[in-house]
Amino acid sequence: MPTSLGAASGVVRSSADTRRVGVMGGTFDPIHQGHLVAAAEVADTFALDEVIFVPTGRPWQKDQTEVSSAEHRYLMTLLATVSNPTFSVSRVDVDRTGDTYTVDTLRELRATLGSSEIFFITGADALANVLSWRDHDEVLRLAHLVGVTRPGHVLADPGLPTGAVTLLEVTALAISSSECRARRRAGRTIDYLVPEAVAEYIAKAGLYQVNR
Ligand code: ATP
Ligand code: MG
Repeated sequence: MPTSLGAASGVVRSSADTRRVGVMGGTFDPIHQGHLVAAAEVADTFALDEVIFVPTGRPWQKDQTEVSSAEHRYLMTLLATVSNPTFSVSRVDVDRTGDTYTVDTLRELRATLGSSEIFFITGADALANVLSWRDHDEVLRLAHLVGVTRPGHVLADPGLPTGAVTLLEVTALAISSSECRARRRAGRTIDYLVPEAVAEYIAKAGLYQVNR
């Protein structure tokens, strides 16, 4: 848990030698610049050593018939993050059967990350629902939450215990995966809303076509 604030950088650090790892879970269908900017700005502000993107296996809040296969979403996430040495992608959720719950993600990552401090990054819309997540008390024991601003959503602590969440304003990008999918289905461009390699993958794999 953060205990001190470096005045010059605004960086919160508890110990100089503890690894600091961000975790960004998402459906990433597709991953877009809003996800990447949020992760980059949290990494910068919190002096993270790494940010692990974790595409969901089966997102329990979403209609399965509407979600692209986990492999497509994993590969798009890999393409979007490969050029950043601080970013990595985990298959823990893609490889686990059944619905994806954040508590399971964090339990698995905690087992491999040892004593690292974990910062779970979540947009304002997702943060608002944390109290409905399975075993949310354990989620808060496993990670410090970082809630980031997102256009169209109010960023607020949903009533979590003191110190469990830090709220951070990030560059406002009004981009959503739903909007990217809708634009593709309508024959409109998604150039610059997603990384170029992701746009190319979407075209090549024929994702988000009208009668998919
Ligand atoms: P969908 O429209 O399919 O729900 P999405 O754009 O919301 O897609 P998700 O994969 O559901 O993307 O989101 C993963 C995480 O990224 C969530 O915590 C979400 O709040 C956050 N997030 C998504 N888009 C943005 C954005 N533009 N700015 C800040 N955070 C974002
Ligand atoms: Mg979403």
